[in-house]
Parts: sequence; structure tokens; C-alpha cells
Amino acid sequence: MIKEIPAVFGSVFAPDMPVAKFSDGKWQETVWQSSNKLELHPACHCLHYGSEIFEGMKAFRHADNSIHIFQLDAGVERMRKSAASLYLPVPDAEQMKNMIIEAVRRGNEFVPDSRGAMYIRPTLLGTEAIVGAAGHPSHEAMLYILVSPVGDYFKQGSQLRIYVETEHQRCAPHMGSIKTGGNYAAALPWTMIAEEKYNAQQVLFCPNGDVQETGASNFILIDGKTLITKPLTSEFLHGITRRSILQVASDNGYAVDERNFTVAEIKEKIQNGAEAILTGTAAVLSPVTVFIIDEQEIKVQKQDEALKLRKFITDIQYGLAEDKHSWLTKVGVFTA
Ligand SMILES: *Cc1c(COP(=O)(O)O)cnc(C)c1O
Repeated sequence: MIKEIPAVFGSVFAPDMPVAKFSDGKWQETVWQSSNKLELHPACHCLHYGSEIFEGMKAFRHADNSIHIFQLDAGVERMRKSAASLYLPVPDAEQMKNMIIEAVRRGNEFVPDSRGAMYIRPTLLGTEAIVGAAGHPSHEAMLYILVSPVGDYFKQGSQLRIYVETEHQRCAPHMGSIKTGGNYAAALPWTMIAEEKYNAQQVLFCPNGDVQETGASNFILIDGKTLITKPLTSEFLHGITRRSILQVASDNGYAVDERNFTVAEIKEKIQNGAEAILTGTAAVLSPVTVFIIDEQEIKVQKQDEALKLRKFITDIQYGLAEDKHSWLTKVGVFTA
């Protein structure tokens, strides 16, 4: 088993990866190849017109050395939706699931023990070699699965400063729920300004005051025992961690209030002792410590509920609490 967890998230990969190509109108058989290079035609569609989508999931090692993928079906379904939205060939669910399970199985030594995980990055590219197709989808595609050992980068007490952006949006509103590379490029200018001007790690996008999400994670306000978060729209990414946290919260007696809310409400509630979290597969759940709203710094006073919620979900992931919603897919037992 991997002894040294990379200091940087997603920078080390298992040596081989499964690849499936879509050509002649159908998905071809999965083949395995080295994960450190990819041969693409320089004219391929994804490099010119952004026909690229990805997913992010994790596999966890339990105390008995069994390895489990968290929310595999949900990730595969979301990727199929993203593909359809970009008119890319939609991956076959069974083939994609098998590719992921086999990537984790073959790469099992890259699943660290408790507190670390294996990050799984399925990627789908439009590969038709045609620069004349700016206004047409790609009829050829390639799906591959990268797996990467990652640590638990969460440190209790560390600062998470959020810049609240009320003018600009993260991406085009009809693209927000698609996990496509162009959306992250679109958010970068505001992220860089927030970093340079306000020393903020993340931007919370709230066009015209409507609280949506940050560049790569969902946002939840915790007011006492109530979780407040935006209801699902096309404008933002429908996080599987968001959904899982709302479920474990409600299992544990919290109320869930999915509704639109404004920056004014964040300000008022945080000043009155509310908490706030960011959610996503990579960090699972990170408590916000400072908001920067209209040049004013507003400190979050505590993280009590955030830390409880974090434990509810990570206990399920590591096999320390009952998986009553069947979120885990067991890949096998791999002795260290
Ligand atoms: C991936 C992502 C999330 C979190 O989704 P999870 O399924 O919880 O990992 C949230 N927002 C954006 C923009 C994302 O790309």
C-alpha cells in the first residue's frame, strides 16, 4: 500500500488506465494503456471547441482492508447527463462502471489507509479530428479513468476565506450543472482577483445577490439545526456530496431548507452565529471561516455543526457507521 501520500491533490496517478473509444457509432471494448500519455490528433474537437467533461469520485479503504467506491452510480449517471448536454456520445453505464471498478482494483495499492482515499477522475473527450465542426458535436469520443492517491487535506482550525462575488457569474447559466472544463476557465478571472486582492481561497458566486456555489464546490448555510441551500437549477453543479450531506443531516434530526437566499441573508445569519460549509468530493466538507462581502470581513463564529456533519459522512465512507443508503460499492479486499 502507498506509504507516502502526495502533498498536492491529484498529482500522482496509478501507472495504467482503462480507455474506451466511441467510433463507427458505438462504444468499442475497453483497453488498458499507460496513464502518462495520450495520443490525440491535433485537430480533435475537444482541443478546439471544449467538448470535454469529467467526474470526481473517491474510493476508501476500511479497517478490514476492503475497498469501497462512494456513490458510484450517482457519478456515472451525472457523467451520462453531462455527455448528453454537450452532445457527446453517452458512455454505456455498465461499461463505465466496470472501467471504474477495474481501475480501483488494479490500482488498489494506491488506496491509502484511513483518512486518505483514492480520487477517481473519469474523463470524456470529443476526439473527432475536424476543425470545421465549431457548430457541430464530435461523433467520436474517448473515455478514460485516472486514479490518484490523495490525503485528507482537511485541517481543523485552518482558514477558509471566501470572497462573495455579486456581479459576475461562474459560467454561462445553462452550463452550470455540467462538469465541463470550460466552466472552470470561465470562473478563473474572478478567482484570481479574489486571491490577489482579498487573499481569498474561493469565490462564492452570487449574481445579483442570489447565492449559488463556489468555483468547484457547493455552499450550505447552517442556521442552528437547519441547512439552507439553493434548490437544484441548471445554473450550478448538483453535487453528490451536497445531496449526501443533506441526507445524513436529515437522518440525524436536522431540517433541510432548499430555497433561494441572498447575500444579505448570509450576512445577517452569520453575524447571528450561523455556520457555513463548502461541499465536494475532494475536500468532502470544509467550514468557511471568513466571508468578504462588500469589502467587509465577516468572521464565522463557530464550526460545531459543520464538524458534526463532517463526521457523519466520513464515518460512512470509512465504514465506521452503517451505510444505510447503500452508497458504497465494494471492490474487494486487498491486504496491505
Ligand atoms: C464537482 C463540483 C462540485 C461538487 O460535486 P460533488 O459531486 O460533491 O463532488 C460542486 N461544484 C462544482 C462547480 C463542481 O465542479
